[in-house]
Amino acid sequence: MAGVFVYSDKSGIALELVGCAKAAGKEAMVIVFSQEAAEEVKNSGADRVFILQGDNEVPENYAQAVADFLKEKSAELFLVGATARGRDLAARVAGYLDCPMASDVSAISFGDGKVTTERMIYGGAVTQKEELTGLSVVTVAGGKYAPIEGSAEVETVTVTPDNRVQLVERAPVERKGVNLQAADRVVCVGMGVEKEEDMQMIRDLAAVLNAEIGCTRGIAEEKHWLPPEQYIGISGAVIKPQLCVSIGISGQVQHTIGIRDSKVIVAVNNNEKAPIFKTCDYGIVGDLYEVVPLLIEELKK
Ligand SMILES: Cc1cc2nc3c(=O)[nH]c(=O)nc-3n(C[C@H](O)[C@H](O)[C@H](O)COP(=O)(O)OP(=O)(O)OC[C@H]3O[C@@H](n4cnc5c(N)ncnc54)[C@H](O)[C@@H]3O)c2cc1C
Repeated sequence: MAGVFVYSDKSGIALELVGCAKAAGKEAMVIVFSQEAAEEVKNSGADRVFILQGDNEVPENYAQAVADFLKEKSAELFLVGATARGRDLAARVAGYLDCPMASDVSAISFGDGKVTTERMIYGGAVTQKEELTGLSVVTVAGGKYAPIEGSAEVETVTVTPDNRVQLVERAPVERKGVNLQAADRVVCVGMGVEKEEDMQMIRDLAAVLNAEIGCTRGIAEEKHWLPPEQYIGISGAVIKPQLCVSIGISGQVQHTIGIRDSKVIVAVNNNEKAPIFKTCDYGIVGDLYEVVPLLIEELKK
């Protein structure tokens, strides 16, 4: 069985990766490690769902088993969701297979025994194209491909995980921030805002838009006006809302990498040469202290 094998600990990303493989006309097989995970992906439009069943709860501990399984099935590609867990498993599997690997790619195309990937390097300033020959491992972030639908046959395969690491305890982390990744609308605030009390104006704008609030790194890490979970960019969150309203943000690449998948970007900046105007769909050159109250007033109508 050749074809593309898919894994993600986030089932939503697994569904997207199946969509990617099927859009390229490939057979798509999903690998999961539990019955519950199989339930979440069985209507993904994949050809098969394989439950690799062992007595260990840590997906990374299945790396050797996954590598052996991929070899046995003559897989042509192992596509993994680029989550923390996915990256960890992917690297180990590539290590056991001693095969090519490309991390966090933004595009994949299939050729004759080759896979071509694109990924950004140098903080997003350059796109690098790579060609991988033979069975390869590639990690892809969520939000790049559209999921499809269709029922898949589910098969359980008993495997032996590496039991040297055992899960001892899981404790939930209390999140203070908001779920920016899931937000439909985001108002993003930058260092153009002068005083902490002016953040109320941003909160008012977010309220009329029914939007979440994000920010640039300086607002979170230097000013501490918002928690670190709320800053957006290469070292922060990556968002994909329908609307992103950028207020007082210069638009450095380290930030725009996190907003550029937004459907519509509106920017307000008093410097007409600010790079954000190259990223946005609609730009307002003006003082945010004049423009934001006007926007709130108009949107309230
Ligand atoms: C390795 C590395 C990683 C980084 N990662 C991130 C990251 O993940 N996220 C991130 O955000 N940054 C990141 N940065 C920082 C990034 O390079 C920028 O410095 C940062 O994004 C700038 O934030 P800013 O636009 O809020 O501030 P500034 O660059 O200071 O821009 C403020 C803007 O506000 C405008 N302005 C000022 N007053 C007004 C007014 N009254 N009305 C309207 N506009 C006004 C100005 O014209 C200016 O364009 C990183 C940097 C490095 C080196």
